[in-house]
Amino acid sequence: MTINHHPSGETLLRFAAGTLPAGPRLIVAVHVGGCPACRRQVAAFEAIGGALLDAGEPVGMASDALERMMARIDREPGRPQGAAAAIRLPRAELGIALPEAMDACGIGPWRWLGPGLRWSRVTVQGAPEANVMLLRVAAGKTLPEHTHSGSEFTQVLKGSFSDARGRYLPGDMDEADAEVDHTPVVDADGECICVAAIDGQMKLTGFVGRVVQRFVSF
Ligand SMILES: [Zn+2]
Repeated sequence: MTINHHPSGETLLRFAAGTLPAGPRLIVAVHVGGCPACRRQVAAFEAIGGALLDAGEPVGMASDALERMMARIDREPGRPQGAAAAIRLPRAELGIALPEAMDACGIGPWRWLGPGLRWSRVTVQGAPEANVMLLRVAAGKTLPEHTHSGSEFTQVLKGSFSDARGRYLPGDMDEADAEVDHTPVVDADGECICVAAIDGQMKLTGFVGRVVQRFVSF
C-alpha cells in the first residue's frame, strides 16, 4: 500500500507531544498505525523530547511535558489501561474491519444521512466531547458540503475520493484547514468509508448539511 497523503509535520509534532485534542489524536493514531514513515517521524520527535528532558534543560518544552506524555500513553487509543480498561463502550457491528487504534472506541450503528450517505458516531474513551464520525459514502457521491474554523482530519479506511488536491486512497490522511475549499467526490469504482474529526467548529451547509447538523454535534 502506497501512502501519498500524510499529516503535516506540525500535526505529527503535536501528536508526539500529546497536545492534539482527542478527536484529531485518534485520526492521527489510525494513520500512524498504518504508515511506517509517520511512525518513524513520531519516534524521532519523541526521542528529541526525551533527550531534552534528560538534559534537564526545559528548552522549548513545558515543565509538565513528561507528565503529559505519560498521560497520553495511558490514554492512547487501543491501549486501555487502569480504570479505563474496565469501561467497555458499546460497539455496533458495521460490517468493516476497523483499525486497531479504534479498539477502545465506542461505535454507533450506521445512520441514514441522505441518499448514498451514512454515518456512525465514534466515541473516544475518556473524551466524550470529541467530534469523531465514520462516514460511508456511495460511489460517485459528493461528501457533505461544509465549512469549519479549525483543521479537519479525514483518514480513508476503504475506497477512495478525489478533490482538487489529488486522490485519497486507504491509508491516506487528508488534513484540511479552514482555508481549504474542498468538495471531495467519491470515486466511481466503489463506496468510500472514512473516519473524520475536526479541531475546531464545523458548520455544515446545504440541504444535507442542515439535516446532518441536527444529528451531529459538529
Ligand atoms: Zn504517514
